[in-house]
Amino acid sequence: MKIAIPTETQHGESRVAASPDTVKAYVKKGAEVLVQAGAGKGASIPDDAFAAAGAKIANGGWGEADVVLTVRRPSAEVLAALKPGAILMGGLEPYGDKEGLEAIAKSGVTAFAMELMPRITRAQAMDILSSGTVPAAKVFIMGVGVAGLQAIATARRLGAIVSATDVRKATEEQVKSLGAKFVYADIADAATSGGYAKELSAEDKAKQAALVAEHVKTQDVIITTALIPGRPAPVLITEAMVDSMKPGSVIVDLAVERGGNCPLSKPDQIVHHKGVTLVGTVNLAGRLAGNASPLFAKNLANFLDLMIQKDGSLKIDDADECIKGTMIARGGALVHPMFQGAK
Ligand code: NAD
Repeated sequence: MKIAIPTETQHGESRVAASPDTVKAYVKKGAEVLVQAGAGKGASIPDDAFAAAGAKIANGGWGEADVVLTVRRPSAEVLAALKPGAILMGGLEPYGDKEGLEAIAKSGVTAFAMELMPRITRAQAMDILSSGTVPAAKVFIMGVGVAGLQAIATARRLGAIVSATDVRKATEEQVKSLGAKFVYADIADAATSGGYAKELSAEDKAKQAALVAEHVKTQDVIITTALIPGRPAPVLITEAMVDSMKPGSVIVDLAVERGGNCPLSKPDQIVHHKGVTLVGTVNLAGRLAGNASPLFAKNLANFLDLMIQKDGSLKIDDADECIKGTMIARGGALVHPMFQGAK
């Protein structure tokens, strides 16, 4: 028996009617399986994965097939090549385009429209309209500050298996309290007294990279948020690590505006690299301007309140640490200790 899986040709259809698992099962039953080259591309299943499962990667030969599996109606070209009596099975859209449906009938194939599967218990495993559940995605959050903690909580709410890492040891408890796994190399705590991170020593960077390299191979989504105040963002995901990830995985690099936690991400671009998608969206708060503006406005109003006196006049209290900590210029000069002498 020969089973063929052509590439879907309908606009916007990126699925494929076989997986490496189903190919393996057909081969085990003695079938010869032909998968068209590139048929799995849109579903992030490379030809190699089908070949490893026992399929022959083909670019035709539909005329020899006893069974043809499709997600939607086959192209006119495939249909014309099929032998009479061949079984065609897929989402054949029986309710629209009567002419197209008649063309399928005239080709002489025995066609099964999977949408018409009875909705009975015995048919559940064959029901393409409610196919089943998918395994939970594995999500890895790198950098557990404000953004990282929100990412952990959101990914957990969405049902993901979540892990997270940071160089500040204090984050371990926070990560665990949100129900995620803490991934931590045997390194010195890199927290500063201000609660931020400092740059790691070369030795600790290497230890962290080795641990991360192993972990990322199994992840579906990585969200990186790692920043070091006043320094470029640390590189946490190297190109080699991206290469080791599964096709279809996604990296969201929230540090992209400060150079990125991954050298392949680009500001305001979606980059595709060997099947991995890197999202480099900048100014995320600006995408939620309706919610973000009132929050931002309230921060400013609360700060300005420190300066507005009862009689409505303004007074700058130099001793207030919030005022001291943020005032960078006054009287024609840079006054903040961090920026004095800056050009
Ligand atoms: P951030 O944006 O500067 O950095 C994000 C995270 O990346 C930090 O947790 C940092 O430790 C981590 N990181 C840096 N280098 C890393 C590396 N090599 N590998 C992995 N992770 C790395 O941080 P943030 O979101 O501003 O938060 C920093 C701290 O400040 C947190 O403890 C946060 O709770 C605290 N905070 C307090 C207030 C407040 O009290 N008003 C407000 C905001 C943040």
